[in-house]
Amino acid sequence: MSSLQSKLLLTLMGTCIGLVLLIATITPWVVEQSFIEGAKEKHYQHFARGIEGYIQRYHSWGTKEDAARYSEITISGPPRPVIGRPVAPGMSLRPEENLPEPTFLFALVDPTGVVLDGGKRFRVGQVLPKSDYEYGDPIKIGQRIVAYALPTGRPTPTPEYKMFSQSLREALMLSTLVAACLIIPIALWRSNSLVRPLRGLITAVNRMADGDLVQKVEVNSKDEIGQLAKSFNLMNDRLVEADQHLRELSLRDELTGLYNRRYFNQEIAGLCKYVKRQDQPMTIVLGDIDHFKKINDNFSHIVGDQVLVKVAELLRQSMRGSDIVARFGGEEMVIALPATSTEQAKHMIERLRKQIEAYDWHSIRDGLAVTMSFGLCQQKPVRDWEAMLAQADEELYRAKNNGRNQVCVAEQLALC
Ligand code: GH3
Ligand code: MG
Ligand code: MG
Repeated sequence: MSSLQSKLLLTLMGTCIGLVLLIATITPWVVEQSFIEGAKEKHYQHFARGIEGYIQRYHSWGTKEDAARYSEITISGPPRPVIGRPVAPGMSLRPEENLPEPTFLFALVDPTGVVLDGGKRFRVGQVLPKSDYEYGDPIKIGQRIVAYALPTGRPTPTPEYKMFSQSLREALMLSTLVAACLIIPIALWRSNSLVRPLRGLITAVNRMADGDLVQKVEVNSKDEIGQLAKSFNLMNDRLVEADQHLRELSLRDELTGLYNRRYFNQEIAGLCKYVKRQDQPMTIVLGDIDHFKKINDNFSHIVGDQVLVKVAELLRQSMRGSDIVARFGGEEMVIALPATSTEQAKHMIERLRKQIEAYDWHSIRDGLAVTMSFGLCQQKPVRDWEAMLAQADEELYRAKNNGRNQVCVAEQLALC
């Protein structure tokens, strides 16, 4: 029950069922109150008609005599408690009609406080202080208050009301049941549609944490979750961009822009495997600028750097897209030439060597001359690129010893 969906489900279902229960409780209460008010109103109209009849007959109301006479002609004689019952034959103070049964018990007080009917609470003829009856319900004829009714007790429901009330309760119970049955699938559907995009986001974030950086989530809405998904995608784009930039930085040499040794080591094994599968040879070349220390010493480090940049440029220009050219360290460069015959490789490197030698180094600094020595090794089929690299280094060493500015190739390919 700790997931967001369970919480949403509980909240939605709890709220809806709570609301339905509240309505199911309040509605019968409101109906009962209106039944009570209706029953009272009927009695008050009946009292008003009784008093009106009295006034028409005696042309007076509100004196002690009226109170005594009214009480006498309306109250005396059983049965009670319905007041306003005429006792004198022929008197029509109480029009015959069906009052809601059984009725309330009322105390009826005239406007001067004289009790007309005690309703088991007061004596007839007793005079009440105003504070005892003014909060009762006023009985009016036109705008004139002719009495106050003080109801006690509650009406017992009529059979019709009982039936109505029972049907109402049953209808409410049915609605509660239907609401509960409807709310479960609706709550499940709504909570699911709210939680699904969040689950997508969690999966994407977890995948990023596992190193799978490129992630995209669907943006299905414009609400907060949709905005979150949009922001996530934007953040992911920027992260991927930054990651690529950092990766590029970590794999490139800052000065020359060539790939670095890390990149070469990372790529060479895969390239060798590919070349082996294609049944093609693999050539590895190591190149080293001759007397570079002297260049630095004689012309400054800045000139040394410029030479490195220019050599890198010449190397890059001479190579094909499938070749790898990297700065191996200092003024030493490594080149991988996949699927290139020995003759072709020798030719390419020899041409490169000549290009470097022939370059107009004077344009950088008067008196500057640069040459480069190369050692080359080839395997077919490719067996071990590290062994090839070691052999290329041997050949480079040989080129240096033989007077520099030359390309040395491992005489026996088996040596590589
Ligand atoms: P050899 O012909 O035998 O290769 O002689 P060398 O002087 O080229 O060889 P050595 O390895 O003795 O010198 C390499 C020099 O390269 C030493 C170092 O100061 C310099 N160097 C290494 N990296 C850089 C760089 O990034 N910029 C500059 N300007 N010099 C560098
Ligand atoms: Mg050198
Ligand atoms: Mg060196």
